[in-house]
Amino acid sequence: RSNAEKFEFQAEVSRLMDIIINSLYSNKDIFLRELISNGSDALDKIRFLSLTDKEVLGEGENTKLEILIKLDKEKKVLSIRDRGIGMTKEDLIKNLGTIAKSGTSAFVEKMQASGDLSLIGQFGVGFYSVYLVSDYVEVISKHNDDKQYVWESKADGSFGISEDTWNEPLGRGTEIRLHLRDEAKEYLDETKLKELVKKYSEFINFPIYLWASKEIDVEVPSDEEESGEEDSSETSTSEEETEEDEAEKKPKKKTVKETTYEWELLNDMKAIWLRNPKEVTEEEYNKFYQSISKDITDEKPLGWTHFNAEGDVEFKALLFVPPKAPHDLYESYYNTKKSNLKLYVRRVFISDEFDELLPKYLNFLKGLVDSDTLPLNVSREMLQQHSSLKTIKKKLIRKALDMIRRIADEDPDEYTNKNKTDAEKVSENEDKKGQYTKFWNEFGKSIKLGIIEDAQNRNRLAKLLRFESTKSEGKLTSLDEYISRMKSGQKDIFYITGTNKEQLEKSPFLERLTKKNYEVIFFTDPVDEYLMQYLMDYEDKHFQNVSKEGLNLGKESKNKDLKESFKELTKWWKNALSSENVDSVKISNRLDNTPCVVVTSKYGWSANMEKIMQAQTL
Ligand code: ADP
Ligand code: MG
Repeated sequence: RSNAEKFEFQAEVSRLMDIIINSLYSNKDIFLRELISNGSDALDKIRFLSLTDKEVLGEGENTKLEILIKLDKEKKVLSIRDRGIGMTKEDLIKNLGTIAKSGTSAFVEKMQASGDLSLIGQFGVGFYSVYLVSDYVEVISKHNDDKQYVWESKADGSFGISEDTWNEPLGRGTEIRLHLRDEAKEYLDETKLKELVKKYSEFINFPIYLWASKEIDVEVPSDEEESGEEDSSETSTSEEETEEDEAEKKPKKKTVKETTYEWELLNDMKAIWLRNPKEVTEEEYNKFYQSISKDITDEKPLGWTHFNAEGDVEFKALLFVPPKAPHDLYESYYNTKKSNLKLYVRRVFISDEFDELLPKYLNFLKGLVDSDTLPLNVSREMLQQHSSLKTIKKKLIRKALDMIRRIADEDPDEYTNKNKTDAEKVSENEDKKGQYTKFWNEFGKSIKLGIIEDAQNRNRLAKLLRFESTKSEGKLTSLDEYISRMKSGQKDIFYITGTNKEQLEKSPFLERLTKKNYEVIFFTDPVDEYLMQYLMDYEDKHFQNVSKEGLNLGKESKNKDLKESFKELTKWWKNALSSENVDSVKISNRLDNTPCVVVTSKYGWSANMEKIMQAQTL
């Protein structure tokens, strides 16, 4: 429209739109799922507001919380409409012109380089996927606090906004009109749209309707001449039909096919989490995961847990371990608190930014909690302080850790399964092979952060820990496995820290230990230094850093004589180095070939920690 107010897209948005519009990305279908998901979000928002203020819903049609899809084959327009919260003029400018999220430029670059648009929904730019299939898009929106506006853009770097004086009033909500490109004509097909809704939006909690054509039989007064004609033309097709026609002819009426349109419901809005876990199939869980994760790849979750908590605080929960960590999981670990759980109260969506549900280290989990105990008609702030949240959180952590342990228990590669007889094995499933290693590579750091942060569950988390050691032969091993290999009389669990395994393998600190066949754990992640400040013991075994004071390899008799005969030398040496530089000079039994080594004191930082701290302050 020529008299529309013109706005420029933020530079990143403009680039993103260029990438999308020129994309060869084959999965163009995703646009529909993104639009339905936005409609559903908008409906969630208005429903949430209506809990404390009924007026916001208005009356009549406006109270229907639904999504409506319509096709105009002639004009090649596909429209998706919701009766959600809608957008004010300001919202339109902000939400459909800028991306506020940090790291946007990096994301856009990544997408441009890879050509892989599957991250689009995850990153919160799903709306722009409309340009995969359209060259011109109109967004008509009405928010309770503003007039009705039209946003429009041809993806040419700018968009227009006009007060809407020509379209039918929406009442409330948003209608997206896609002017489809010629290559995207397939979306003008009802069957195709039904398929897509079924595939991608099955679990949407609001009814989705399609303005669908329907052939109906209409009775018209019988006209002898015409029916005679029809009869003769149909005799050639099939005997049966002729018979039927004859039967119909009896009441001297005839029927003709006529096309009418009506709203056809495409989803059944079943809330999978309300069902009995025993009755939900693996495939249904996988599909549901895909619908809530905004993950467009077909990768299955690594694990899930679905349970019903009873007692003082009643809730149902469904949690998933995603197949991959999001690109920014640890980048933003200390800056964001956002968890990926959706909170429902009696099936009404409340929020997906409820930090009180899970501790930070479990932020990688996806899923939802639906509580019957929490009150519905209070503000989010009040809900956030509700006493039952503590109970919910505690149970969620337990169940989440059980779920993670189950991934290991079911993995035929894992230690717990290696020594089991066939009958004892939890699972022989080849699909589960290597799943725990996959989990560890994606989320191992979260487990370590958990050990640091969650004293209550430290032991449970330590069970999930994996690492390499002098005896693990390049594979990952666990503390339980380490303990099973301990030498008789060995009291401590030995470990060494450093920047990489290759370097550690050459360390003089290992000489004696390896010679005596003791196993030593390699900790090579910077976070391991912090980890070991919190993880003091496991199953009554103390952790001993082999580069620190206090290494005890059991009785060592010749020690006393050695101490005596080298007394003068150690004295001289201590003086030569001065007490500022060393605490003491001792005869040690930890070495074999190397004549001497610098050891750190029991409570001081290890040499590796000194290095890490130095790197941080520089
Ligand atoms: P996301 O949904 O992840 O936030 P999108 O690119 O899909 O990212 O949408 C951007 C924003 O535009 C949304 O956060 C929302 O504020 C707004 N929006 C999009 N579609 C609608 C709609 N149908 N109703 C109301 N607001 C919408
Ligand atoms: Mg979206």
